[in-house]
Amino acid sequence: MKTTSKQNLNDFNQIKYGYPDENGHYGIFGGTFVAETLIKPLQDLKDTYYKLKNDPDFLKELYTEFENYVGRPTPLYFAKRLTDKLNGANIFLKREDLCHTGAHKINNTIGQAILAKKMGKTRIIAETGAGQHGVASATVAARLGMECVVYMGEQDIYRQSQNVYRMKLLGAEVIPVTSGSRTLKDALNEALRDWVTNVDNTFYIIGTVAGPSPYPELVRDFQAIIGREVITQMQDIDKKVDALVACVGGGSNAIGLFYPFINTSSKMYGIEAAGNGLETGKHSAPLNKGKVGVLHGNRTYLLEDENGQIIETHSISAGLDYPGVGPEHALLKDLGLVEYKSATDEEAIQAFHELSRVEGIIPALETSHAVAYTFKLAKEMKKNQNIVINLSGRGDKDLNTVAKLEGIKI
Ligand SMILES: *Cc1c(COP(=O)(O)O)cnc(C)c1O
Repeated sequence: MKTTSKQNLNDFNQIKYGYPDENGHYGIFGGTFVAETLIKPLQDLKDTYYKLKNDPDFLKELYTEFENYVGRPTPLYFAKRLTDKLNGANIFLKREDLCHTGAHKINNTIGQAILAKKMGKTRIIAETGAGQHGVASATVAARLGMECVVYMGEQDIYRQSQNVYRMKLLGAEVIPVTSGSRTLKDALNEALRDWVTNVDNTFYIIGTVAGPSPYPELVRDFQAIIGREVITQMQDIDKKVDALVACVGGGSNAIGLFYPFINTSSKMYGIEAAGNGLETGKHSAPLNKGKVGVLHGNRTYLLEDENGQIIETHSISAGLDYPGVGPEHALLKDLGLVEYKSATDEEAIQAFHELSRVEGIIPALETSHAVAYTFKLAKEMKKNQNIVINLSGRGDKDLNTVAKLEGIKI
């Protein structure tokens, strides 16, 4: 399967679904809620992106990087033993865990870094929670010879020391954020502040389909290579896609899989982190339990208290531990085009072990939420039906978390 390099971002124009509108709104969601000083830089970014997304030179560079640096197309793997064991629908895994750096995040960072270079920027900044987006940003900055600064909550720096060292090895500077809860949402605020000050030479790479317009749109477009490859790969083996399943943190791997399937007959399931359980209040499931509000430049579903204060989220997986979600998912929920379900920490851990033992693939804890939900879904569907799970990342980064939980010293 080598057809992907011949596809291009124009394919998006064929999708009959008109979001976002010209102001970056997804129905009542999305938009541009930022300081006045950022309006012009965001407009410049949008203008450049709209010009380049149809430009053959840009697309050639992007697809060359996808093939030779990221390792695309990623395989679509039939999980036969898991399918047999569950005795339900056929389960296919889209192997984003095999991307360079071990997850889907690099699809987006390489795209944004090429944009940055085309705009004449020499410095990249990024925010990171677990460190995965920081690593993916530091990686592409090294690849393109750009300076890189990553903002990371002090709390997360302590929890994710391996990724901090990885970013340093890649030549990035990691700046600890000591405000607020010293985690991802505070790092995002700090990165926006840096951007306001240094916008002349600096490009801000956002790590998921959140933030002010046009970020949710361009991150989606770079990640949609995932779904487009799945369409071709399933056609090649003459199979219909009955259901798609992906975990939802900010929502980039999920929208990457879903977007090319919107308005087709395939059913779509986005899986949020239910943490200790949706009823305990200790979770990260804004689409299941949130209210509409504004955070980080866009309107979306958020986890907040009665006074509109953002509440502390909880998930075993750092990558799903975010109080908001991309605005396009908020719309897809309200339109009923995607069903948003959840999996608890416990279910995710069980799925983590099961996939490791049955298929020899250790998934990321984020991904394990999608796998856990599929265990239920496969049994409800017919045996000749097909489910594709977005295997968003590999689990190496989570070994310490799982071992510690089980009282094992490694
Ligand atoms: C970061 C991450 C996620 C969550 O981010 P999305 O934007 O929701 O995709 C999911 N899986 C893995 C492996 C990640 O690293």
